[in-house]
Amino acid sequence: MSDCAIVGINWGDEGKGRMVDLLTENYDIVIRYQGGGNAGHTVINEYGKFALHLLPSGIFRKNVVNILGNGVAMDPENLWNEIEYVRENGVPLTPDNLKISDRASLLMPWHRELDGLEEARLADKKYGSTRQGIAPFYSDKYQKKTVLAGELFYPEKLRSHLADLLEWKNLTLTKVYGAEPWTMEKLEEWLAGYCEKIKPFICDTGKFLRNAKAQGKNILFEAQLGSLRDLDYGICPYTTSSNTIASYAPVGSGIPSARPEEIIGVVKAYSTCVGEGPFTCEMFGEEADKLREAGGEYGAKTGRPRRVGPIDIVATRYGVQVQAATNIALTKLDILSYMKKIPICTRYKLYGELTDDFPFPSALADAEPVIEYMDGWETDISKITDWNELPENAQKYVEFIEKEIGCHIGYVSVGPERDSIIIR
Ligand code: GDP
Repeated sequence: MSDCAIVGINWGDEGKGRMVDLLTENYDIVIRYQGGGNAGHTVINEYGKFALHLLPSGIFRKNVVNILGNGVAMDPENLWNEIEYVRENGVPLTPDNLKISDRASLLMPWHRELDGLEEARLADKKYGSTRQGIAPFYSDKYQKKTVLAGELFYPEKLRSHLADLLEWKNLTLTKVYGAEPWTMEKLEEWLAGYCEKIKPFICDTGKFLRNAKAQGKNILFEAQLGSLRDLDYGICPYTTSSNTIASYAPVGSGIPSARPEEIIGVVKAYSTCVGEGPFTCEMFGEEADKLREAGGEYGAKTGRPRRVGPIDIVATRYGVQVQAATNIALTKLDILSYMKKIPICTRYKLYGELTDDFPFPSALADAEPVIEYMDGWETDISKITDWNELPENAQKYVEFIEKEIGCHIGYVSVGPERDSIIIR
């Protein structure tokens, strides 16, 4: 079996965690290659229901090694809290099944603080950050103003590096934002606390992966968020600060020679979006409330109600293209079972013209959705696992999307549980 990447096609929250949890059975290694503790992957299995933030979703499978690659925002505090939460629920977690790249940069405690300060400064123009420090972290990473996880093994050099960073960061905190400065004492506390706790998991994951590949092991790359949140290809500035697309997987995972042959794009059967920014297909009022309730669309990390809408063909087709998806997993089809008529955003109207193309970010806010309807199936499909047993109208809905986005839909998910899946 070849390597595979599981990625989000839209705005995130498509159900990637659920697909990784299902498919890890066939893989030896699962790697998170970008993003940080701002993710919220929900997984339901024999251990219970979990909202994972930083841990790879393969953590529940025996014999799967989970890796946090060099591309992630390695937040020791978030990670340690999550390790404890997962362990308390009976999941064994040791340096044998969880490894942190020594080349992953550490999210410093001041990054979270800076995120909040900047969103407060932006006031009604805020980006809708989850305030987990992700944007300040990545800016500092690219300025080479943060610490590599492996530096924890060189305490003397680390102390001197931290003193330099502290001096520089305090200029921003105090002079730009008028906030309190950080102190070396507070940093020492952080080092002795969270950093010491995660230290046993840090190793040379690049070497581990090269050896694993030489032994023929298979890798599953797990992305966070979706195409439209990609730093380069998404809806700037309402993106995340890392690359969510599959082609970043080899860089962010620690195995640059990897070429995942299969790229499974996860698409929800309708649209949801967390935070600010243009969301062309957005529904409002009672229609939106009903869909939000039916789908339980509240943020896994923040509890924020998600914005909802019909499936957006224009955005989804674009998402499939930038991910170079080879197969699609369509999730939450069961949620649409209550609808008599199913709305679909088939095109956009932009500056008086109809278009199939996803607009440039500056124009996106001016786009209007063109909505068409298909007949619903109005029956419970959540126990169906055979394509031929799916009501005809549900099949037609899936086939319509498949044709419009130009990619095979190989998985149709009809429930949150591991086995609620139709494989085509
Ligand atoms: P992720 O960040 O892409 O992993 O997505 P989230 O975890 O934020 O959102 C997916 C949510 O939908 C989770 O609560 C899943 O348990 C749930 N889910 C996933 N697939 C299905 C499905 O096919 N049907 C239903 N009803 N729920 C699903």
